[in-house]
Amino acid sequence: MALVPDTAKLLIGAGLEVSLEGGAGAGAYLPDDLYTKAGVTVEGRAGTMLHYADAVLKVQAPRESEIALLKKGALLISFLQPATQGDTIRSLAQHGITAFSLELVPRISRAQSMDALSSQASASGYKAVLMAADRLGKFFPMMMTAAGTVAPARVLVMGAGVAGLQAIATARRLGAVVSAYDVRPAVKEEVQSLGATFIELPLETQEGEGGYAREQSDEFLRKQRELIGEHVAKSDVVITTAAVPGRRAPLLVTGDMVKAMRAGSVIVDLAAETGGNVELTQAGKDVDVGGVTILGTRNVPSTMALHTSQLYARNVANLLLNVVKNGALALDFADEITKGCCVTHGGEVVNERAKQMLGTPS
Ligand code: NAD
Repeated sequence: MALVPDTAKLLIGAGLEVSLEGGAGAGAYLPDDLYTKAGVTVEGRAGTMLHYADAVLKVQAPRESEIALLKKGALLISFLQPATQGDTIRSLAQHGITAFSLELVPRISRAQSMDALSSQASASGYKAVLMAADRLGKFFPMMMTAAGTVAPARVLVMGAGVAGLQAIATARRLGAVVSAYDVRPAVKEEVQSLGATFIELPLETQEGEGGYAREQSDEFLRKQRELIGEHVAKSDVVITTAAVPGRRAPLLVTGDMVKAMRAGSVIVDLAAETGGNVELTQAGKDVDVGGVTILGTRNVPSTMALHTSQLYARNVANLLLNVVKNGALALDFADEITKGCCVTHGGEVVNERAKQMLGTPS
């Protein structure tokens, strides 16, 4: 949910009138009456509001039929996936919408409270470990019982960004022996400080701009798979989170590597929706490969809707309030945050990163 009662109060306190599509909070256990108590007007249908709203807050990008209903000049804040949803971006521009893409919020300290990629990735990393623990026919911690001692589970986390670090911390809390790998050696200390082993491979680093990885060559990925293979084979759980912004997820684990794992092992591929880090992943499905389960669950944050909505709604409200002055929208394109994440405005695609992703010359 892009609005929770607490953030509604925040927006109303800033002089805005807030409306909600009736029942929209049900999936996050937020009934309409909680919103009404916070001062929100609950409308029967979203369509009615789209006609008159000056600002629309959503989770996923709007459908074409919704874009057609939006008021010209309206502000939209949601995930827009500019790297893959070019048609949506072009349509938003054509309809004169001022669209903010949460994927493009700059990673500067002032924007940290608006960083929905991080808040949702953190939830995914946490939940990935619980999903794996649930499917693994083993304990995570070492257990000393009268019937014998059980060795702790071995967890390998590939990609130690926001989701990966949260996965490491969660697996450690459950008592597993954790190792992790990332193409950015800068994360080594963070991995170690969480009590995990950082796997160092004899490969050149792939550090890109803004703390992200840069796109890697096929040759690099081939060598990486070769070198990481033995670590994958001896793991009970592999959690993959590797991503390069605006690109297909890098392929880290081949089908042969999965087949070399012990039956009963579990892989959670958090990159399932952007092409998968694991060759045999199927987005939205569980796949069994010789007794190894690969979970390709889509939209993992939505499986923890109460807390992820709370965090997401706060990110969205902070981003909206950054462009509100005296109860009205006041866009300032000299502001680094507005400039960084506003994708369409005044009938055009205005964002350089989005233009690159769409392949439009700037
Ligand atoms: P991401 O989701 O784009 O990628 C996840 C991880 O995958 C990254 O750590 C990346 O290096 C890694 N990766 C890419 N290709 C790989 C490969 N072939 N093998 C192994 N790993 C691979 O990144 P993210 O989690 O959104 O963020 C990355 C970093 O950005 C964070 O660790 C942090 O340092 C920084 N960050 C900064 C801020 C801020 O300053 N406000 C906020 C959030 C994150």
